[in-house]
Amino acid sequence: MRCAVVCCSIVVFALAACTRTGASGKPILIPTAVVRSGDIVGRLIGGALPTLDDPPERPLYVLNVTLDYAGGNVHTQQRIEFVNPTGQTTSEVKFNLPPARRAGAVEFRDVRIFGQAEPLPFELTDAVLTVQLPAPLPPGKAIAMTFNFTFKVPLQEMITGIGGDDTSRGPHSLMCGHWYVMLAPFRDGQWDTPAYVPIGDPYTSELADYEVSILAPEGVTIAGGGDEMRDGRLWRYSLPKARVFAFAASDVYEVDALEEDGVTFIHYVYPEHRHTSAAVLNTAARAVRLFTRLYGPYPYRTLRIVETGRQQGQEYSAMVGIGATIYAGYSGRGARHDLIATTVHEVAHQWWFNVVGNDQIRSPWLDEAFARYGELRFYQEYYDADADWWYGHFILGKERGRLTGAIDLPLSAYPDSRAYINAVYRRGLMFLNDIRKQVGTATLDAAMKDYYQSQIYKIADQDAFFDALARHTSEDLSGLVKGYFAGAVDLPCRISNNAAGCRR
Ligand SMILES: [Zn+2]
Repeated sequence: MRCAVVCCSIVVFALAACTRTGASGKPILIPTAVVRSGDIVGRLIGGALPTLDDPPERPLYVLNVTLDYAGGNVHTQQRIEFVNPTGQTTSEVKFNLPPARRAGAVEFRDVRIFGQAEPLPFELTDAVLTVQLPAPLPPGKAIAMTFNFTFKVPLQEMITGIGGDDTSRGPHSLMCGHWYVMLAPFRDGQWDTPAYVPIGDPYTSELADYEVSILAPEGVTIAGGGDEMRDGRLWRYSLPKARVFAFAASDVYEVDALEEDGVTFIHYVYPEHRHTSAAVLNTAARAVRLFTRLYGPYPYRTLRIVETGRQQGQEYSAMVGIGATIYAGYSGRGARHDLIATTVHEVAHQWWFNVVGNDQIRSPWLDEAFARYGELRFYQEYYDADADWWYGHFILGKERGRLTGAIDLPLSAYPDSRAYINAVYRRGLMFLNDIRKQVGTATLDAAMKDYYQSQIYKIADQDAFFDALARHTSEDLSGLVKGYFAGAVDLPCRISNNAAGCRR
């Protein structure tokens, strides 16, 4: 079904259509989108608001980028096709544009209904773009819109803990995570346009398909999510069913690859860390094998592991970022190092975040504690002699602070990154591991697989997880939940000893 929509929606470049001078003084080619009649599925039809006669199954993003690597400028022409998600007639559409929270970071030029000459009125407040449509969009109808903007990638900030921009550049690379105009999800009767918090992953998006072209300067390597087709300086990516399209760029990357179980693992690494490639690639491949066995197949043909200028790991769809500082001190052998644990953690997010989505702002424990649990299972599977080290180092480690805090709070409720990590990552892991101790490994495995299978490509909530547990055990988990959760949890009766008000 995807191919019917995606493969036919080809926007043809006239690459030499116009040039401008980059920060380096060299001319940069700006691709100009030219629509060849018959190429675009969803023929424009008459009326004040041209709707598509073939609505896409999920939003389709076409991103045409010219990268000024030296200047850190991402010149973008973006097209998005989407069905009115509100379920009612609407005259405005909201988008999240996360980099715009920094004043001056985004030069937003215009937004249009695709194929129309008139720019539309819009308002860009903080990181929320509100566009007024020229006519009401009925429920169930689809439109295509285009955006024209330049994003200046900020310099990497120094962050301790987990959080901060996932889109930034350092001396050796540039990383674009949640960097483009993202259709705001419409949930519970409103557009989800969360305010930025400098803790965790403060992003929200719907599952979407991506067709991306990036024109890069000579000598710059691009690493994007999904299937890659390269033609000289033009790097093209096709990424279906994804939460985000991210890409990294660098003029020093060395590239190593490993093919296993039908997946190509590709490591983009700074020269001084190349000795880690075999270990990183093997770790990623082993993690994919383990999580495939436990929960379900990895959904893409490629998995890119990219070194970034950050100090932390970061999950994206079909890609993980590993901060340069995480590589420090790793010899290339053994598993007692943050590089191995972080690689496994970010790979686990391909299951918990990418395939099974969750509200990363309001229920971050649903992907972070699960990714942490993946680390523990990985060590017990492949490095059993190091599993106690892992638990002592990452979970119990006294230098990490006191093990306190409810695991189920939204990002904004944690006072700082350390409190967030202590609660969600450390105690979140302990919660899952305590369930495991009570119900047994095989039962928890079965429940997590059931949860995974029932929530594929959805935005899961904690009720769905507890429902899955209740399908596999009748152990009373209410005591555990009470010890780890601050909010009210409506446990199914079967796993709460029929407590008053339990869910039938
Ligand atoms: Zn994580």
